[in-house]
Amino acid sequence: MMNAAYVYLQIYRLFDTVTPVPVDCGNLCDKACCKGDDSGMLLFPGEEEVYGLLNPDWIRIEKTDFKYDYDGETHTVPIALCKGSCDRYQRPLACRIFPLTPYMDADGKISVIVDPRGKGICPMAKAFYLEDFDEKFVRNIEKAFRLLAKNKQIKAFLKSYSEYIDEFKRFYK
Ligand code: SF4
Ligand code: SF4
Repeated sequence: MMNAAYVYLQIYRLFDTVTPVPVDCGNLCDKACCKGDDSGMLLFPGEEEVYGLLNPDWIRIEKTDFKYDYDGETHTVPIALCKGSCDRYQRPLACRIFPLTPYMDADGKISVIVDPRGKGICPMAKAFYLEDFDEKFVRNIEKAFRLLAKNKQIKAFLKSYSEYIDEFKRFYK
């Protein structure tokens, strides 16, 4: 993917100062989302190029079993693993948008939802509706993914990703 690192670095800036709620939610839960045993965040297609470029020492990138098809090939989704601390200006997109996530419906329409994977970890994911989050935060996620989904590979990924999210939705109903 051409210039993927550049695109993600621009998108990261939408979340440098815009956060889920106007207060530091980490005080609520002692940063539970950074502390799991399997503290890892899926990387969006091409995002690993950011880490090839910056090469930070707090991140380790591994392959997952999550695969999606695009352009006649099967692509494996990488995961970023950390040790519970990072440079906040370099953290992956998934960390920036947590506990919300993009969701693409069968018609290809993208929306933002509370991430069902967060419900067991994050007090906000458990108790909040989408309208309880900072409006600008929600808008910036929509903006980021409408832009990213112009890329056909990212659109193909979002289709599989949304099916994967559906599994968690059923689990947490
Ligand atoms: S678990 Fe939720 S409330 Fe806690 S720091 Fe992470 S996003 Fe904020
Ligand atoms: S990269 Fe940073 S924000 Fe993401 S889980 Fe690790 S410590 Fe938390």
